[in-house]
Amino acid sequence: MSDYPELAMYIDGEWVGVGDRRVHQVLNPATGQTLGDLPLAKAADLDRALDAAARGFKLWRATPAADRARVLKKAADLMRERVEHIARIATLEEGKTLGESRIETNVTANWLEFAAEEAKRAYGRVLVRPTGHRHMVLKEPVGPVAAFAPWNFPVGNPGRKLAAPIAAGCSVILKPAEESPNSALEVLRALIDAGLPPGVAQVVFGVPDEVSRHLLASPVIRKLSFTGSVPVGKHLMKLASERMLRTTMELGGHGPVIVFDDADIEQALSIIAPHKYRNAGQVCVSPTRFYVQEPVYEKFVRGFTEIAQSLPVGDGLDPATRMGPMANPRRLDAMEAFIGDARQSGGQVLTGGERVGNQGFFWKPTVLRDVPDTARIMNEEPFGPVAIMNPFKDFDDAVGKANRLPYGLAAYAFTQSSRRAMLISDAIEAGMVAVNNVMIAGADAPFGGVKESGHGSEDGPEGVEACQVIKSVSMA
Ligand code: NAD
Repeated sequence: MSDYPELAMYIDGEWVGVGDRRVHQVLNPATGQTLGDLPLAKAADLDRALDAAARGFKLWRATPAADRARVLKKAADLMRERVEHIARIATLEEGKTLGESRIETNVTANWLEFAAEEAKRAYGRVLVRPTGHRHMVLKEPVGPVAAFAPWNFPVGNPGRKLAAPIAAGCSVILKPAEESPNSALEVLRALIDAGLPPGVAQVVFGVPDEVSRHLLASPVIRKLSFTGSVPVGKHLMKLASERMLRTTMELGGHGPVIVFDDADIEQALSIIAPHKYRNAGQVCVSPTRFYVQEPVYEKFVRGFTEIAQSLPVGDGLDPATRMGPMANPRRLDAMEAFIGDARQSGGQVLTGGERVGNQGFFWKPTVLRDVPDTARIMNEEPFGPVAIMNPFKDFDDAVGKANRLPYGLAAYAFTQSSRRAMLISDAIEAGMVAVNNVMIAGADAPFGGVKESGHGSEDGPEGVEACQVIKSVSMA
């Protein structure tokens, strides 16, 4: 396919192609057809990447912050210029609509730009000491970072994983998801074209467990940054603990949405229903468990179901499409199992609940109601286009329901009372809360969870700080 660039890894400033390596076939989820063959790293490739990252760190930490910032800023500009090309690749690989891919590419450019600005603000402190004494608190780059990015934001996840370490003066070895490699490589290409020196960023692909074990065991690596599921996150934390690595863990969620009886229901529906089906629900902050106060429950469920039924599902390249396919066949199997179990547990399927056709990996926008807490889907992250509706009685009932899971990533609430808005945002156990809107992310806003949804933040000043260590220096 001519507009799909050849796949390769990037190690020590060189592109590394398939050669005699194992390959992974990258599929277009809208058609099931192969887009290209992706080389998978051998142990020797990973060792080369580690050597290059060690050298790249020495070079980059000594590079003035203003120069690091210039590279990131230029890369952001290049991504904006290339938005159509990058968005098309993201849609081909991941399935989301072209409109979503365009937004994602521009938002990623914003993250690179914000990180560029933060690169210049690694301010420390000078403590008050007697004449002839100085005591300084300095921020230094943590060192080479091993980063693992999933496929659901094929441009955005790699963008975040590269921007913060590069801003802080670290080198990085990134393993993006094997499902969406060229989207990640487009971010890298923008950085290279903006002047990023060899050795500062390497991008490798491979068998995920082989790559993470190899990299995290190396004394070169000083930090792990992972976005993905809770079970894989826990596994990687154990590996990281062997070497006491710094960690940023952005794991799954099970977003509760609390709709109070004083909410503007029409407005709430127009905001939250499209947000649910964004990227076919394959979003860690996706709204999933809808708790609606009894007096407005039936109205909300009816309105939501109508919107779900009206969404055109199809190839993300088609401008008429509002929801694309699931990113891979594993998600279809997961949806079958979740919906079957919810039905057996007594839940009702109001719309959807099945695959669309047998070409590509499409699943209908789905609404379930009255699903008991014992059903799997009420406890495990469905990561798909499923909204689950249940009623609640009063404030405490809603809070109890929202906080009952070990997840704590994103939560949403709708109410016209400012007092309720304040109380609910205080009571919810989540890293991010949106009231009467869904805009929880932004280049300047910290993104991350609590409880088993992980720890540490990406984006905002906190994202760059997470790639720094503190050194306290006293002089007399
Ligand atoms: P998965 O748990 O197998 O993988 C999730 C991600 O982790 C993938 O990108 C994968 O390449 C990577 N991974 C898996 N094992 C790894 C290892 N040993 N070392 C390093 N990386 C490893 O699941 P999946 O089928 O790819 O995705 C489905 C689940 O993942 C969802 O149910 C969801 O919970 C979670 N997920 C979360 C996010 C998020 O943004 N937090 C993104 C994508 C997937």
